[in-house]
Amino acid sequence: MKEKIETLMHRALTFALHNPHSDFYRRKYGAEFEALLSQSVAAVPFLTRPEIEAVPLRSRVFVPQTMVRFIRSTSGSTGKNVIGFPMLEEGLYQEYLKSIGHVPVSGQLSRYFEPYFSSMNIKSQLLFSAGSFVHEVRVRGMEGRMFISGDFTQPKLTARLAAEAQVDAVVGSPSGLVSFAPFLKALDGCRAVRLVVAVGELATTLQFTKLQEFFPNAKIASQYGLTESQGFVGYTCPEKMSSDPKAFHVAEGSLFIELISPETGESLPLTAGTEGELVITTHEPQAFPLIRYRTGDFARIRSETCSCEGSPLLFECMGRLTLDRIRVPRGVLTIAAVDQAVAGLSIEIKEFAASWDAAGEVPGLSITLYMDEGDGELDEAIAKTLSEGIKIAPALSYADIVAEGSVRPIVIECRPVEAWIGWSKKKRLL
Ligand SMILES: [Zn+2]
Repeated sequence: MKEKIETLMHRALTFALHNPHSDFYRRKYGAEFEALLSQSVAAVPFLTRPEIEAVPLRSRVFVPQTMVRFIRSTSGSTGKNVIGFPMLEEGLYQEYLKSIGHVPVSGQLSRYFEPYFSSMNIKSQLLFSAGSFVHEVRVRGMEGRMFISGDFTQPKLTARLAAEAQVDAVVGSPSGLVSFAPFLKALDGCRAVRLVVAVGELATTLQFTKLQEFFPNAKIASQYGLTESQGFVGYTCPEKMSSDPKAFHVAEGSLFIELISPETGESLPLTAGTEGELVITTHEPQAFPLIRYRTGDFARIRSETCSCEGSPLLFECMGRLTLDRIRVPRGVLTIAAVDQAVAGLSIEIKEFAASWDAAGEVPGLSITLYMDEGDGELDEAIAKTLSEGIKIAPALSYADIVAEGSVRPIVIECRPVEAWIGWSKKKRLL
């Protein structure tokens, strides 16, 4: 496996360093850039987001500019500046790759839902955030499939169109889909759906459960990607849809992953249970290749491997390093751990929101639970259960560090589900 990665890195570097259209990587590595071609993967410097941001888009296009079909930008949802990325024209891209002698060509990055759509014979899809999938719509349209472009701010209209078309797949952000599903259900459009793909933000266990309830005949999957990757990075194992949608295969036809320590940058072995910052390298040429790009996302290697057609290795995303992971005394508080604990509650919760309050004398966690009937008396019991259920280290719970006095007890607020800031309400606030 190690040799394989060295070979893939060599291929990625060759495309990036000997590129006639952009000198981005030659400038980044400096005069000695050629030397990197003969060194180990670990010797290649990381690429970070500020380095990309510092260079104008026109100087970051590694293919003839006529092949760029549209520009996709980061969402700005993490509060950072928005960066544009060139997206390719599918047919021309394949031809171009052949012309520069890059064989084999997977085209995987540019075909988002390939692991599911073909094998499930999906004919008609409801696709939210269609702006980011212009390319996908065009390619699939050529294959005779129908797309409905959904709008979360127009749930009634969208549901009517989708029900009329008997859509058999629905793709969108998990929070948006959970808010939208009741509208489609009201028109009896949910039962025809065979596939639900959650994309964009990381879906919580609660959201996966909700989606399965709304779409009883559907398999639930997730695809993980980031704008910088200009395509997807991981996807739910086709054999684990619904049962374990968080288990991701690597889109290894296009890229390879590494895990590193976010603090030291040290490489970590891709072995069972390893957790670290996800680093990706695209070995298949794309308009802007990524070489050892630090994603800022935290991931964990699953203990089990998979024998389906995907990569043997399975991984799971744990959230953004800066947003979803906080160092606390003797451990790390992650949104994934809060998610697990909330999903384990015996009462029915519709959604939850967690925040960390470091302003007070003693910092602590606040959790808002959205449920049908708020019951103030429940709060204390729930706080206790969650406190004991949230792990910050293998044998250490949040309750343990509360007892030590280093954090305050969890503050729970139960609110009616109508108070949830779903997609439509978010939009109206703008
Ligand atoms: Zn699999």
